[in-house]
Amino acid sequence: DSKDYDREVKSICPFCGVGCQLSYKIKDNRIKYVDGINGPANENRLCVKGRFGFDYISHPHRLTKPLIRKEGMPKGLNVDPADVHTHFREATWDEALDAAAKGLSDLRAEKGTNVAGFGSAKCSNEEAYLFQKMIRQGFGHNNVDHCTRLCHASSVSALLENVGSGAVTATFNEIENADAAIVIGCNPIENHPVAATYFKQFTKRGGKLIVCDPRGVGMGKFATHRLLFKPGADVSMLNAMMNVIVEEGLCDRQYIEGYTENWDEMKAHLADYTPEKMAPICGIEPDALRAAARDFATARAGMIFWGMGISQHIHGTDNSRCLISLALMCGHVGRPGTGLHPLRGQNNVQGASDAGLIPMFLPDYQSVTDDGVRSAFTDVWNSGDFSNEKGLTVVEIMDAIHAGDIKGMYILGENPAMSDPDVDHARAALAKLDHLVVQDIFLTETANYADVILPASAWAEKTGTVTNTNRQVQMGRPAVTPPGEAKEDWWIEVELAKRLGLNWTYSHPSEVFAEMKLNMSSLDNITWERLEGEAVTYPSLSPEDPGQAIVFGDGFPRPNRRARFTPAKIIEPDERPDAEYPFVLITGRQLEHWHTGSMTRRSHVLDAVEPEANCSMNPRTLRRMGVAPGEMVRLTTRRGSVEVMARADRAIAEDNVFLPFAYVEAAANILTNSALDPYGKIPEFKYSAVRIEAA
Ligand code: SF4
Repeated sequence: DSKDYDREVKSICPFCGVGCQLSYKIKDNRIKYVDGINGPANENRLCVKGRFGFDYISHPHRLTKPLIRKEGMPKGLNVDPADVHTHFREATWDEALDAAAKGLSDLRAEKGTNVAGFGSAKCSNEEAYLFQKMIRQGFGHNNVDHCTRLCHASSVSALLENVGSGAVTATFNEIENADAAIVIGCNPIENHPVAATYFKQFTKRGGKLIVCDPRGVGMGKFATHRLLFKPGADVSMLNAMMNVIVEEGLCDRQYIEGYTENWDEMKAHLADYTPEKMAPICGIEPDALRAAARDFATARAGMIFWGMGISQHIHGTDNSRCLISLALMCGHVGRPGTGLHPLRGQNNVQGASDAGLIPMFLPDYQSVTDDGVRSAFTDVWNSGDFSNEKGLTVVEIMDAIHAGDIKGMYILGENPAMSDPDVDHARAALAKLDHLVVQDIFLTETANYADVILPASAWAEKTGTVTNTNRQVQMGRPAVTPPGEAKEDWWIEVELAKRLGLNWTYSHPSEVFAEMKLNMSSLDNITWERLEGEAVTYPSLSPEDPGQAIVFGDGFPRPNRRARFTPAKIIEPDERPDAEYPFVLITGRQLEHWHTGSMTRRSHVLDAVEPEANCSMNPRTLRRMGVAPGEMVRLTTRRGSVEVMARADRAIAEDNVFLPFAYVEAAANILTNSALDPYGKIPEFKYSAVRIEAA
């Protein structure tokens, strides 16, 4: 009803990587409600988070003034936001920025690598670009990372290795043109709900859906094949499916010969992975493996979608290598209805990675080890060279703090005190820092360890571009003004950089975007002015081209334009269940709560629907333990223990437990294992040996 609001602003949802376009309806500088609009990814649809998860921005916990820790106040207490002034004193912006810069530059004077940075996948492309530039230009090294390390780093490493590009090869909307699709290691009905609506429509028109997951995820209801494999057994299951495709002569020989390399090695490797041999390992009967493999291989067009069930393993890169090989051997890349699509998590994790917020790559995945690449950037930055060594990743940075090699951090919009694996280890690292600057909208668990807190803007309060899972670059617009003295993140970054002695003169994000284009060919033909009017998918081949929904139809950005088959062997999870820890813990998200919960637990509708920390267990397991649904259980791993309400869920195997990581009172990452995939350096969030007891 138009009487309900006095103006509307079109922008992008701040939560998941689907990147739904929405319209904020505003009255008296408050968002009254939200409607979906016709963006390329969502076509007017929104999920419960996009529709109802907006009032966190006016929550009384918002940080409204810069804060400096009071002399002698201990770090790391979980400060009640209402009690913030006992621990911190309010400061002017000048005072806080001076204190932040002094702490960081004093450490820099000793050694540049003393300071590391975590940027944010929740901020704009321009803010991500500025953040990595500050660390590289200001401190001379590449110790800069963000939550992609905990999300799809292993998928990106496999994609870069084998198809030459870390982004999706086709938009998820291409499923409209597919006959078969594999959805594996993800739960799109809860985590990418609007994308899931396209998947459901695909099945209604007869598309064959192959859902593979250790949990009986919601998409399974729509599946032609439902493969509930054992946690961590991805490689055995996928190799068995590929074995079937080879043995039954279902490969696309023409495609393999025309567009790929290393096929002979791959084919020889697969010979050992028969469904009969793999069935006891992955828990799927040979006939079921054969039937699913046949439907995917014989489809005219097939797509593969995956999530963190694939990526968050010590063999995460191998899991993605298998998926890439599976698509290639069937010729399911580069045509309508085909493609490889790792569903991105945060609203701008694709864009932040593209913008170089990673320790091994500058913007557009240009290697920091390449002298020519670095000099192209320092020419634009009008500054001296920085290190040619790849920087440390998220978990490695925490280890380096414990080792005394990193003494200061600048953390923008990330919450490692909740999101890191073995989080007590990460919290102890944060407490050990000599100087920590946190820039955020709330007093997050991480901000509890800060020396200086810089109050930032929520997504609905700022201008900037974001890039969704589909490679669609879209414009975010400010709907309301930030509370109190909170500022847009790019402004804070610029002011801090100036105090660190950098020659930054930006006065608007559009100037940053213009600079990004100088060394990012992915943004060719995409201008700020264009984005003000429309979303553009990269690559865009001309100023009129809306962008390429499907790429690599005529070859890959690799030597000889060929994609590569990289065989993967079975690697056991880092730790196995035993008599002391007999269950397998799987962590993840649930529909209503987003990541570490800082936003959604302050959105009253979402928090009312899911107000309490919970874990999901098979009803038979609960009965065996004498625990009724709704009662508390204690989960204990080799790293720690949490108490949480148990929920009966037939979708969980009897020897598994699922725990969302949004709840500070039962922080899942107290339990998780920090063992890393050697390529993507992503931790094994999806497999920990755990003991369960009645609490
Ligand atoms: Fe927002 Fe993702 Fe939901 Fe779309 S699907 S409304 S982007 S959370």
